[in-house]
Amino acid sequence: MPSSSLSLDDPIRAIDARLATRRMGAKTKGPEAWVVLAESMELHTVGQLLHHYPRRYIDRSMVQSIRDLKIGQQATVIAIVKDVDTRTTRPRPGQRPKTMVTVTFKDPTGVIQLPFFNQPWVARVYRPGMEVALSGIAQMYRGRFQLASPEVEILRGDGDLVHTGRITPIHPAAEGISAKTIRELLWKAFEQLPRQPDPMPRDLIEAETLMPWHDAVHAIHFPVDDRTLASARERLKFDELFTLELGVAFRRQRMTAERKGVAHRADGALTARLRETVPFEPTDAQVRAMDEVGRAMAAAHPMNLLLQGDVGSGKTLVALHACLVAIQSGHQAAIMAPTEVLAGQHARSVAGLLAAVGGVAWLLARPRDPDQSLLFGGPSDGEPGGGPEPAPGLTWALLTGSVTGKERERVLAGIAGGEVDLVVGTHALVQEGVTFSDLSLAVVDEQHRFGLHQRMALKGKGGGDIDVLIMTATPIPRTLALTYYGDLDVAILDEMPTGRRPIETRAVRTEAERRRAEELVRIEAAAGRQAFVVCAAIDEANRTQVKAAEVEAERLRTEVFPELRVELLHGRMKPKDKERVMETFRSGDVDLLISTTVIEVGMDIPNATVMLVENAERFGLAQLHQLRGRIGRGAHRSWCVLFDESDEDNLDARARIDAMVRTTDGFVLADEDLRLRGEGTLFDTRQSGMPDLKLARLAEDLDLVTRARSRAFALLEDDPGLASHPELLDELRRRFERSIDWLFRS
Ligand code: ADP
Ligand code: MG
Repeated sequence: MPSSSLSLDDPIRAIDARLATRRMGAKTKGPEAWVVLAESMELHTVGQLLHHYPRRYIDRSMVQSIRDLKIGQQATVIAIVKDVDTRTTRPRPGQRPKTMVTVTFKDPTGVIQLPFFNQPWVARVYRPGMEVALSGIAQMYRGRFQLASPEVEILRGDGDLVHTGRITPIHPAAEGISAKTIRELLWKAFEQLPRQPDPMPRDLIEAETLMPWHDAVHAIHFPVDDRTLASARERLKFDELFTLELGVAFRRQRMTAERKGVAHRADGALTARLRETVPFEPTDAQVRAMDEVGRAMAAAHPMNLLLQGDVGSGKTLVALHACLVAIQSGHQAAIMAPTEVLAGQHARSVAGLLAAVGGVAWLLARPRDPDQSLLFGGPSDGEPGGGPEPAPGLTWALLTGSVTGKERERVLAGIAGGEVDLVVGTHALVQEGVTFSDLSLAVVDEQHRFGLHQRMALKGKGGGDIDVLIMTATPIPRTLALTYYGDLDVAILDEMPTGRRPIETRAVRTEAERRRAEELVRIEAAAGRQAFVVCAAIDEANRTQVKAAEVEAERLRTEVFPELRVELLHGRMKPKDKERVMETFRSGDVDLLISTTVIEVGMDIPNATVMLVENAERFGLAQLHQLRGRIGRGAHRSWCVLFDESDEDNLDARARIDAMVRTTDGFVLADEDLRLRGEGTLFDTRQSGMPDLKLARLAEDLDLVTRARSRAFALLEDDPGLASHPELLDELRRRFERSIDWLFRS
């Protein structure tokens, strides 16, 4: 047979004409198999089919005998079709008769039945003698075993000679093609495919003791045992991660080589003055982060730095330090927050910390005579001659959607004219009409939104070469920081300012526990402390959810805490009203603030010591962590109480809440979140433009990520343009197809 000429670029039809044109459907035949593969799965070539990996395996040594099935337990059995019985039920008056097909399967120890209602065609799918794998929950019906929610895989049909050994792969299929057809195509492909050369450098594969490529691809489809399968998976995961890291290394190398950035003055009068005047002792972590930021900003290539720190770890100081580096080098800086509330909070912190540095609000500074010494220090520094050295001056402004009219015009003019050194704002900063005179640093506070769009938009405002500092309060899992964020430098605030007492977290599931939690609020309020109650109006745009929060607020106000001063805060309130409610809470005139998740960001109330979260099961882990970060900010002991109304079998909700109870460490929670949700939901790889990972799981493969990363970076160090590895350069181009710009251009 002229069969060993198959190559990876051949169309799937070349594997086997009979298999490739197989059609499914009993009455009306569907399209041919190769058409389904092309149209629903984007599989055209033999090479693409080889990368279509099984979604699971049935290990024949692990399957159960029918006799040993336990009622109520998930099980897999391998059995032969014994007979197929079709009946028509006697119709009820006025109804059409129904058909019921019962397929009986047998193994050497017993029989099991699957009933199919109103699917008459099933009778033609199963033929006596066929071998199938059945998975489902075992049940007993009229003395016979049945399977509930069964999954059936046809392993071998009549005349089908695929011998798959002990472990049978089950490939993802689609409407119009069965897993069995895909398996047979792959089997036949390997029969005809000559041994393929390894696409990876040989010394690298040897140093990492990885399985050769051809063996790995064969073994992932048709493993002989678990150990071989594990080695095959390791090898193919490594390939995915290696290419990803090579792309990351490539981009980093290019950015570092670039000389278009601003070389800032890391040390100067403003930063020195800030360190002298901060009203607290910076933590070691803050000092380290400020040094890192200073170094990165002093370099001649643009900075891209990710500052990770739990809520309350003191990111504002680091951000402000970066801004002062830009300003003392003669440029402007901007801080962009995700919400108006948070922008306001930043502006307040900035105003506080900057007062001693000589910072004044632009809108207050402007009407006065610019020659006056106002720009140089506060009132106490006023004596001419005698007093302390005048503080170096700078101006800052707030720009959000609610800065309007004349004020807005003045702010915009100040930014365009260069008189405003520092702008704090929302996405209003990146809108049309905002022109900077000389922006050299953008600080983007992303909280937990890993948005790449706005960061890029703000970068555009500075002509593309400005330094960027991204702050995130939800730590990014380590694997994510090494891959999808791997082109960024990372600084970590892993130390809390001293004097903080850890927050105690409890899950509450009974009425009695709820009473105790409410009692805790009363006790704390009596001691002069304050509390939050968060209601799960998850969708602030949804009127009914907000309504529910309002009703709950009313109930708490009148029935549960009639003696306390209670206020309500939600996302549909006007900014002015929100600000008013928060101001009264901040000033201590309110004991209990009932709110939706708008308090998630922007609230710094050291006097708040209790947080009750209603329906905590509806919140994501990152969100719960954010919420909890609103308390425990002062010197008092704090409590976070999570009301869990989930069903007992809602294992994900349980896992989230238990993780919250177990730890307050944001990095641990980030990894747990990744594990629970999978990277697909946590991070939009499509938005990032990075290649998808088929086998590698960022939640589990930290070790492989690290290995692949160090090999990729080392290889690129030796061979910067990949001149001696053209096949790797090709692979990069292919895998990064959607984001070739990201890779090769700025
Ligand atoms: P983050 O933005 O990381 O959540 P902030 O910068 O808002 O944290 O700081 C939280 C609070 O802790 C603020 O009130 C801030 O003044 C205070 N703070 C920051 N750093 C320190 C420190 N080193 N020592 C004491 N308090 C600090
Ligand atoms: Mg720089």
